[in-house]
Amino acid sequence: MSGGDMAKPLLGHGSMDGDPSITPAAGRTIGVLGSGDFARSLAIRLVCSGFKVVVGSRNPKRKAGLFPSAAEVTFQADAVKKADVIFVAVFREHYSTLCDLADVLAGKILVDVSNNTEINHHKESNAEYLASLFPACTVVKGFNVVSAWTLQSGARDGNKQVLICSNSQEAKRTVAEIAQVMGFTPVDMGCMSSASEIENIPLRLLPAWKIPIFLALGLFLCFFTYNLIRQVIHPYIREQKNKLYKIPIEVVNTTLPCVAYVMLSLVYLPGVLAACSQLYYGTKYRRFPDWLDQWLQHRKQIGLLSFFCAALHAVYSLCLPMRRSHRYQLIEMAVKQAMEKKMNIWVEEEVWRMEIYISVGIIALGLLSLLAITSLPSIANSLNWREFSFIQSTLGFVALVISTLHTLTYGWSRAFDENQYKFYLPPTYTLTLLVPCTVILAKVIFSLPCIQQRLLRIRRGWEKGRYVKFVLPSATGEYSSGETSSNV
Ligand code: NAP
Repeated sequence: MSGGDMAKPLLGHGSMDGDPSITPAAGRTIGVLGSGDFARSLAIRLVCSGFKVVVGSRNPKRKAGLFPSAAEVTFQADAVKKADVIFVAVFREHYSTLCDLADVLAGKILVDVSNNTEINHHKESNAEYLASLFPACTVVKGFNVVSAWTLQSGARDGNKQVLICSNSQEAKRTVAEIAQVMGFTPVDMGCMSSASEIENIPLRLLPAWKIPIFLALGLFLCFFTYNLIRQVIHPYIREQKNKLYKIPIEVVNTTLPCVAYVMLSLVYLPGVLAACSQLYYGTKYRRFPDWLDQWLQHRKQIGLLSFFCAALHAVYSLCLPMRRSHRYQLIEMAVKQAMEKKMNIWVEEEVWRMEIYISVGIIALGLLSLLAITSLPSIANSLNWREFSFIQSTLGFVALVISTLHTLTYGWSRAFDENQYKFYLPPTYTLTLLVPCTVILAKVIFSLPCIQQRLLRIRRGWEKGRYVKFVLPSATGEYSSGETSSNV
């Protein structure tokens, strides 16, 4: 890697001048054991941050050319002698090969940057294992959550947090200072027992998304099967018509909006259930059941998946006229009309229905895009609480109402048409309306002044049946005390 952007120090040393709690770490010598990808990126970043770097390699001659000229590349034992803080950029399985260095390493701070290939791969964390091999050293776990790429890409890009843990406060502070000078934000994760948790972080695959993804897939599967029965299996069984060609686009495109719409309502349903629970128990201090708690925590992911399905639905819908089957159907209709000598096929009601539901659908998608954008941490951080809650809560609910209008205008009077009930199954859109309409109705009920007032009082700390002490002046001007129920 060339120095490039990294040619200049990322942070001027003066940037710490005003903070007396931070001792000037830059300028001290830092050791790096290992000469692989991570060691190289780390050395470049350390050099650019104003540190002296000494790299310890088993074969310094061969590896020296890979490091910036400002970094000294030498034998492991030599490097370790020259520094008090040593980053161990070596895989766990090779830690034991460093045991020969135990004497020179005694009393020094070892920074364990290693990761595993599996979650909870070993009984003890890599950092604890390193500490057990070098009892005379102080081990600090850190920097494993940043990749070699992040180290290279400078302070402006990549993950800036460095999670640190150790049993020694002093060693932790030293490593935190180094991280800060390098342009990272150190996060104290406590003592060494947190090392396993820190080592598991880079291995986690979207932990917050599992439940929402399974929910979306489950809904997709249900609606897809339902639409398949209505659009493909029914015509085949009743009229021996082969409609299999509908599966890739038409069936998928009738399924996606159902998932998007129901998922959007599932963002607001837990709020309604939480409000019901608060009204029923007359307090906000009672814990919600675990499932409701989990649901409330996953609303962002559920909302984003709803937006994803809605966006796919928009793209699929735009592609509908491009299909060969659609062109054949149009020609077929035109020929049929010509043979029937029909000149005017304009149906005013149908025209209006379509104009309205497409327009309303576009507005709903626009609002969903806004919700998705403002849920990005960088955007969300630039909003104050009122702005964020207005967009996510108020505009989100408006998006749900507009999506309902989109669904209603799309369905129009088809719910009352007997022919639409295939195998006695109602049109899909009528099913999708169930949860969103319940949410909208509940929100309307909650906005009634008598209920809204009670909910507001509960959310400000008022509790049903709670007795409070009161003090009243008596006729003689003296004060008498007593107890009353706060909800009287
Ligand atoms: P790498 O490219 O394979 O480098 C490992 C280095 O270990 C080698 O270059 C070698 O340097 C040294 N080493 C010392 N004793 C060794 C031995 N007995 N056998 C083999 N190598 C030995 O690996 P890496 O990607 O730099 O990763 C190094 C550590 O950083 C790992 O623990 C990894 O989990 C952690 N990490 C890496 C990244 C990343 O993005 N790459 C991110 C976070 C954490 P010499 O030949 O010069 O001695």
